[in-house]
Amino acid sequence: MRVVVVVIAALMTLGLAAFGVVAAQKAAGPASLVALVAHVISPTQSTSAPSPAATPAASYPVQTRIVQNPVIQVSDTAMLPSAPSGAAIVLAQNATASALPTPAPSTAAAATGSATAAKAIPSCSNPDALGLSRVVEIDTTGGPAFGTEHFKQYDFLRDKEIVFTFDDGPWPENTPMVLRALTDNCTKATFFEIGEHATWRPDLSKTLADAGMTVGSHTWSHKDLARNPYAKDIEQAKQEIEMGVSAVHMAVGGPIAPFFRFPDLQQPADLIAYLGTRNIATFSTDIDSFDFKIHKPDDVIKSVLTKLQKNGKGIILMHDFQHATAEAMPELLHQLKLAGYKVVHMVPKGPVTTISKYDDMVHAQDKFSSSNNTRPESSVVKTISE
Ligand SMILES: [Zn+2]
Repeated sequence: MRVVVVVIAALMTLGLAAFGVVAAQKAAGPASLVALVAHVISPTQSTSAPSPAATPAASYPVQTRIVQNPVIQVSDTAMLPSAPSGAAIVLAQNATASALPTPAPSTAAAATGSATAAKAIPSCSNPDALGLSRVVEIDTTGGPAFGTEHFKQYDFLRDKEIVFTFDDGPWPENTPMVLRALTDNCTKATFFEIGEHATWRPDLSKTLADAGMTVGSHTWSHKDLARNPYAKDIEQAKQEIEMGVSAVHMAVGGPIAPFFRFPDLQQPADLIAYLGTRNIATFSTDIDSFDFKIHKPDDVIKSVLTKLQKNGKGIILMHDFQHATAEAMPELLHQLKLAGYKVVHMVPKGPVTTISKYDDMVHAQDKFSSSNNTRPESSVVKTISE
């Protein structure tokens, strides 16, 4: 009898312990756990965002882990179980801290302190907006190169994903038009600016950076570095690159990306090697819109859509310098949304460093500010009647 009592007591203890485990799991939030599991298994189903060409879940790597070094995903609309349709809504850092009970792998990126507002997907009140699907962080250590037109290794985009890149700005009227179309659509892009242009209109560069766009550089004065005198004189070529970096950095008045694009995509090997020593990433392109040869906005749209349809995804090269492109933007973004494309924004892991020698050269170019104009404008010009 005593033996039976002991056995029953032991069984009851085991039962209670098992119940305790279940209860603890329930207390931890079963809905969240289920949502998290569903998210990992099938990220396309964890959001109600439209997926016209639903990519098979199997072709997705598990969300938010390193997709392919040196590209790390830091934000994804699919991270929230109930992402509203189309519009991007995730603050990745906040999502992992408050909405998801178990730390998602991207928390590691946030924990490095590298996460900033530019790395988050902001809320969007426009249901028709193209929005933002993912933010990827690029570790530029050693100067990786992107753009499958020339570099095949880091092809980090999934089917139907696009990255916008704009060259040759900043430029009055056109750059603000491009920016307005992007912000109206709650989406983001990378701008490769010409240093000289940035010194002419630093306010435009700063506005882009303030709006969360990624700003990189595109030389000082858009010289083809594969030609002489640059081809035979690497010091001159370095100066053309570095003055561009310094000028754009100066215009923004804060950190800019260690992202660089060669003019005309002429990319001498020794200069790519040099950029490697500077930890600056080179960006070629996947899809060249050739918008600089196009004068009608409709033809810019056609060019981008046709090439995208053929390629399925890609880093797109356009020019905020070009008026037809600026005019095409609202309709182009609308068409891209209708066709089910999703925008990926690239952000750098860390900012570029400038070299003081080239900072000084840019200052020296700015002949007007080194003139007598040292007093603040308000003490020089006063409104005396109005
Ligand atoms: Zn260019």
